Amino acid sequence: MSGLAYLDWNATAPLRREARDALVAALAQTGNPSSVHRSGREAKKLLEQARIQISARIGASPDDVTFTSGGTEANQLALGGFPGRRIIVSAIEHDSVLAGAPDAARLPVTGDGVADLDALDRMLTGSPPALVSLMLANNETGAIQPIAEAATIAHRHDAILHCDAVQALGKISFTVNELNADLITISAHKIGGPMGVGALIASPDLPLRPVQTGGGQERGRRAGTENLPGIVGFGAAAAIASDMAPVAALRDEAERRLLAIAPDATVHAASAPRLPNTICVSMPEVAAATQVMALDLAGVMVSAGSACSSGRVRRSHVLDAMGVPPDRAECAIRISLGWSTTQTDIDRLAEAWGALYARTRSRAA
Ligand code: PLP
Repeated sequence: MSGLAYLDWNATAPLRREARDALVAALAQTGNPSSVHRSGREAKKLLEQARIQISARIGASPDDVTFTSGGTEANQLALGGFPGRRIIVSAIEHDSVLAGAPDAARLPVTGDGVADLDALDRMLTGSPPALVSLMLANNETGAIQPIAEAATIAHRHDAILHCDAVQALGKISFTVNELNADLITISAHKIGGPMGVGALIASPDLPLRPVQTGGGQERGRRAGTENLPGIVGFGAAAAIASDMAPVAALRDEAERRLLAIAPDATVHAASAPRLPNTICVSMPEVAAATQVMALDLAGVMVSAGSACSSGRVRRSHVLDAMGVPPDRAECAIRISLGWSTTQTDIDRLAEAWGALYARTRSRAA
């Protein structure tokens, strides 16, 4: 992007060329994957090939993959899948989890944005059978959560663990065995696949009640003709996705420069294990929306700590849960890098942030 710095990869990553090519080729495929004739069988073959590519990326079995319309639907399929179970969600989950279980108990997090596992153990002790939802990496701060440890605690109490891994896939390496979660959510557009396609990973033995019923597709777990081009694009993106370890150096440099320019700024979750690409930073006394607009005018695209789909900025429930004072939380922006981020992007960010900081401080003086 000449003259522009796209630093909002946690919102969506650019479509990978391989994913676009595969998607476009699949658009030409006539045939419903459920049809038994030749065209149907060809469509089914493409579908199953994508299922293999995606399951291979995280060491799952192809049978574990249920395609959905994205991370939001996969989260809500998991949360709605076990009626009668008590639901516990961490206080920093994505809105699609919080809205999917509005009456759920909230698992607290530490000041660094990491789930409090002692609290989880206490909440599960003597509890009726539960479903716990804990994300692998937070979308705002990048804080990585102790999923394997949470799974051990959950299983000790006969609870099921759901893990929203939407932000982790393609940024850090993990396998289903390492996480040991019972259900895992992933989404294509965060890894260079198309928007509007995702998956829930769960063993076929798990008694998951479908939310969407009808034609019995996806082994009855999610009815409706599959979004074949989207799924094929997801498969192609998964096949080439690696982790984002190489961008950590640029992220660290960006963070150092921002703090050198604005010594009163705070990086949130700074001492937690974090995604290598994410910075959540507050410039005191400058509202997040003002910062986002000023940076945008300078050609640098970032997002406010928590913006809903209308673009309206609310104070982040994640920073609230971490105990960040409201006046700091209202000044938090999220900067997220990706595989094509360059040194020039970081230079532009530092320049635009520096100019904004100087303007606001000279006005205040
Ligand atoms: N979960 C997390 C952690 C996310 O960051 C997002 C999207 O930002 C979602 C779920 C929703 O995924 P989708 O946009 O595919 O519905």
